[in-house]
Amino acid sequence: MKQIGDRILYFEEIDSTNEEVKRQAEAGAEHGLLVVADAQTSGKGRRGRCWESPAGNNVFMSLLLRPSFGIEKASMITLVMALSVLQAIRETTELEAFIKWPNDIVINGKKVVGILTELMTEPDGSFYLVCGVGINVNQREFPEEISATATSLLLEKMNEASEFDRKSLTNKVIDCFAKNYQVFCKKETIEEMLDEYNTFLVNRNASVRVLDPKGEYEGVALGINPEGELLVQCADGDIRNVYAGEVSVRGIYGYV
Ligand code: ATP
Repeated sequence: MKQIGDRILYFEEIDSTNEEVKRQAEAGAEHGLLVVADAQTSGKGRRGRCWESPAGNNVFMSLLLRPSFGIEKASMITLVMALSVLQAIRETTELEAFIKWPNDIVINGKKVVGILTELMTEPDGSFYLVCGVGINVNQREFPEEISATATSLLLEKMNEASEFDRKSLTNKVIDCFAKNYQVFCKKETIEEMLDEYNTFLVNRNASVRVLDPKGEYEGVALGINPEGELLVQCADGDIRNVYAGEVSVRGIYGYV
């Protein structure tokens, strides 16, 4: 079987690296294909939202995965990727990055990475995954609508005169993900990554507001379980398992 990142397609500009991976997959591309772009014209977030993707400064990358595990395990791939990007950022920049469950990386309370995993089913009943990552690397300014919650590695690395090398950061993410994916595939849970994931969970033991489309509520985030669900203890002592699906989590007083 092909390895993660064995084949890389690079684009100066693309609509969305996730969309390109889907086109490649439909044309028969194999597991492990990586699509990288310098800019996206329609970068995507969750629930049809946009990901700001200007040229020249950032990393936009998407991986094609054709897993042998069941469809019910697929949402955990976002968490495996989040841990991988976190490891890559910490090793490359020494910045204190944290995971904002389930799909963002934050530094000093602002979002520096977004992850979007999409599951596509095929006519024969099989499925593939597209795992996309946007990293704000050397961007110095953000549009007003997101300037309060968005940042870049360069902006957070105070006194850093030189820009970060995007190619080596991309390679590092791929290396980390390839290792973590192999570990994940053994037991098909994130059990072995749990301690590390929880260590870097930004809201751990803090009050959070769960923005569940079925009804919002507050509680204390205890950490994630081996299935990747966030455990939130409510005021009545009840512990709710929050499934990543369509849910966002906020700090009580702001974004984190
Ligand atoms: P939230 O971060 O609000 O909990 P989410 O994780 O579902 O929600 P994503 O789908 O990951 O959000 O990202 C889309 C949102 O991120 C946009 O609606 C916008 O607010 C913000 N955003 C868009 N582009 C960027 C960027 N380049 N850097 C940081 N934040 C961005």
